[in-house]
Amino acid sequence: MTLALRFDNSYARLPGDFFTRLAPTPVAAPRLMAFNAGLADELGLTDIPDGATLAAIFSGNTPPQGAAPLAQVYAGHQFGGFSPQLGDGRAILLGEVLDRAGRRRDIQLKGSGPTPYSRMGDGRAWVGPVLREYVVSEAMHALRIPTTRALAAVATGEEIARETMLPGAILTRVAASHIRVGTFQYFFARRDHESLKALAEYAMERHYPGTESPEAFLDAVIARQARLVALWMSVGFIHGVMNTDNTTISGETIDYGPCAFMDAYHPGTVYSSIDRGGRYAFQNQPGIIAWNLAQFASCLVPLMPDEDAAVARFTEMVNAVPERVEAEWLALMRAKLGLGTAQAEDEQLILDLLTLMAQNQADFTNTFRALATGTARDQFTDRDAFDAWATRWQQRLEDEADPQARMRAANPAFIPRNHRVEQMIEAAVAGDMAPFERLMQVLARPYDDQPEAEDLTRPPLPSEAVQATFCGT
Ligand code: AMP
Ligand code: MG
Repeated sequence: MTLALRFDNSYARLPGDFFTRLAPTPVAAPRLMAFNAGLADELGLTDIPDGATLAAIFSGNTPPQGAAPLAQVYAGHQFGGFSPQLGDGRAILLGEVLDRAGRRRDIQLKGSGPTPYSRMGDGRAWVGPVLREYVVSEAMHALRIPTTRALAAVATGEEIARETMLPGAILTRVAASHIRVGTFQYFFARRDHESLKALAEYAMERHYPGTESPEAFLDAVIARQARLVALWMSVGFIHGVMNTDNTTISGETIDYGPCAFMDAYHPGTVYSSIDRGGRYAFQNQPGIIAWNLAQFASCLVPLMPDEDAAVARFTEMVNAVPERVEAEWLALMRAKLGLGTAQAEDEQLILDLLTLMAQNQADFTNTFRALATGTARDQFTDRDAFDAWATRWQQRLEDEADPQARMRAANPAFIPRNHRVEQMIEAAVAGDMAPFERLMQVLARPYDDQPEAEDLTRPPLPSEAVQATFCGT
């Protein structure tokens, strides 16, 4: 049985130095761990084959008909240092399909074996990060935050060497595209302006149809990324590795390595074990996206007729990024407090609540969720301080109609808490997929009260708290 996906592989039609054609490396004993039937339907997959066939396809052992497998090349700033050549070192793009809504979607295998861009790596992934990305990316989607999606997870039946031997797995990722700021940087660094132009034209047509000039393109990417980072901030999400190769041109969240949702609120929170300086700490994300977009802007300068004028104009645009994130953030945070109208003092009201939350180590998700039910004060040790704030807030709410409904729609009850994700991985490695299934089911409806899943709203006990997250490479 084959897979009725209708491929149309536009990236594979770009010049040859954009990628290396390469099939996934077969694995020993593929076994399907998870399959996203809802997403498969979106992609127009009607006849779903049995698990063994799906495992053979999404392990890369029998690539689907119509695929044109390749590894994409890119560059990127990693923690501020430039690597002129990165690329898909453990991923293979199978190709693109037009989904039911007519949107072009990449289908990529991650963990599919070595490529010319693997450097020292083995091109593989283990079950932990694969299921982590599966759960967290799908949770993000349910939170209405632009993201790559997870179509399948397949165990490879092979062990891979990390600090210990671990069971291997492959994730099938679906994305609007895998074009990154780093893809532009690759050609920019080589002064290959012809390829840069071809890439810009391709990306504009694919993601921002109707956009003609590099300036309009930059503005459109800034708008999407400003919105994205504001959305992350509104749910307490820390990406953890906001390198330019992990910043998409489409505006989707990509690369769920050491990412994490905060439990107790603190603006300086860092989870990633490799982020020693806290470069990608929660509160730094708006500044970092501005920095990444400055790199993107630099890449577009050679495409402009007057480079000096372009530098001046792009500098203005990049300097305005933090304000644009802030404007998006303010709108989102207003809704979280139940405010449908805008008043000058709203920002101070929001900032004062966040300050109190940090001082009281209040749980980010539960505090906002409890605002609608009037139980938020339980999240604070200094209740008098909260009450004083709440008096101001109640006065402000007098100008609003039905703030409760607005708050319930803006403040999720369920996020993929770190300790639950870790427990899920531990169970899966031991052969028990029940915690995975349960997380997927509950996180699909994050704004609904689900009393039977009350335990998943609980912050970690001290013994459960996850201190650090890892890239999982
Ligand atoms: P990431 O930190 O996941 O964004 O990856 C950064 C770079 O390292 C990318 O070029 C990846 O393809 C590469 N990489 C990560 N893990 C592996 C691996 N296991 N084998 C080969 N390359 C890898
Ligand atoms: Mg990456």
